[in-house]
Amino acid sequence: MKDIQMVDLRSQYEKIRTEVNAGIQEVIDTTTFIKGGKVNDFQHELETYLRVKHVIPVGNGTDALQIALMALGLKPGDEVITPTFTFIATAEVVALLGLTPVVVDVDPDTFDILVETIKNAITPRTKAIVPVHLFGQNADMEAIMNLAQEHNLFVVEDACQSIGSVYTFSDGQQFKSGCMGDIGCTSFFPSKNLGCFGDGGALFTNNDLLAAKIRSIANHGMVVRYHHDIVGVNSRLDSIQAAVLQVKLKHLDEYNAARQASAAFYDTAFASTDKLIIPTRSTNSTHVFHQYTLKLQAVDRTALQKYLADRGIPAMIYYPVPLHLQKAYQNVRYKAGDFPVAERLCECVLSLPMHTELTEEQLAYITRTVLEFIK
Ligand SMILES: *Cc1c(COP(=O)(O)O)cnc(C)c1O
Repeated sequence: MKDIQMVDLRSQYEKIRTEVNAGIQEVIDTTTFIKGGKVNDFQHELETYLRVKHVIPVGNGTDALQIALMALGLKPGDEVITPTFTFIATAEVVALLGLTPVVVDVDPDTFDILVETIKNAITPRTKAIVPVHLFGQNADMEAIMNLAQEHNLFVVEDACQSIGSVYTFSDGQQFKSGCMGDIGCTSFFPSKNLGCFGDGGALFTNNDLLAAKIRSIANHGMVVRYHHDIVGVNSRLDSIQAAVLQVKLKHLDEYNAARQASAAFYDTAFASTDKLIIPTRSTNSTHVFHQYTLKLQAVDRTALQKYLADRGIPAMIYYPVPLHLQKAYQNVRYKAGDFPVAERLCECVLSLPMHTELTEEQLAYITRTVLEFIK
C-alpha cells in the first residue's frame, strides 16, 4: 500500500504530468512569466466554470481577502464580522487594514458561521460580513444575504476551501461558492481543492465597478485612470501557476467527486459508533471536502492521533485555537467562554487524510485503525 498522506499531490501530478509539463514548458519557451496569455486564458476558463462575470487572479488567498476589503472602501474603525472558528487569514487582513474584526460563533453541526450570532453582533459601525465556507461546505448564504441586505452590509465570501461547491437558494437558483456575495475570494495554495505549484489566489465578482477597482488595487492602484488615487498593492498570479491551474481546472469536478466518494466511505465505516460524529451535510449546499472533519465524543484525541501516527496515518487538528483566543488578537473585547461552540470544537475535531488519490485499500486501513482504537 502506498504511504498515506493528508494530501497526496505527487500521485495526482503523475496522472496529469504530460499536460502540466507541456504547459509549464510553453511558459518558459515564451518567457511571458507575468501577465501572460495563460493568466488571461485561465481567468476566462474559471469565469466560465463559476458562471461569474469577473475573476481577478492575484498572488494568494490572503491577498484576495485583503484586496476585497480595500475595494469596498472600508475605513479604520469599521467593523467586519467573521467566524471565530477558522484559519487566521480572515481576521488578519481585517486587522492589518485598521478595521475591527468582530468574531461570532459557529454552527456546531456544519462548523460554518451561525447566522443568529451575526444578528447579535451587528452595530452601527458594522460594514461587512466575511463568511468562511469551512472545510468545503457553503455557509447559509441565503440567510446571510438577506441579513446583509436588511442592514446594508457588504458580503465577502472566503471560498478558499470550497471552490466548486454549489449552493441552492429556496427559489431553486444555484450558485457556485464565492459567487453569491459582493466579492468571493479563493486560494490556489497547493493543498487546496484547486491548487497550483506555489502560491496563487483569485477574487470573483459580478459587479463591473468592483472588478475594475479590484484590478486597479491588485496592480499598485494605477491601472484605471479614474481610480489612480487608490493606494494599491502588488499581487499577481504568475503564468507558470496559471498553466498548472488550466490543467487542474478541467479535472476539478472529478477531483471533488473523488473527495466526496472518500467522505462517503468514511461515513459508512463510522456509522457503527457514536464516539465519532461524521460531518453534517447542509440541505442547501454540496460539500467538496477540503477536509473530512470528525467530532470525537469521549475519545482521547491526543492518544488517537498518536495511535494513528504510529501506524502511518496522519490526522490533523483544524483548528486548535479559535481566533478570539489567539495571542495576536487578544484584546479587551473577548475572553475564554465567549464562544462556547467554537471553543468546544477546537477540543474535539480531528481531520482525517483527504485528497483526490485515496484508494479503497488506504481508506479501509484508515477506518479499520480508527475503529480499532475507539472500540
Ligand atoms: C488557505 C486559506 C486562506 C489563505 O490562503 P493563502 O493562499 O494561503 O493566502 C484563507 N482562508 C481560508 C479559510 C483558507 O483555508
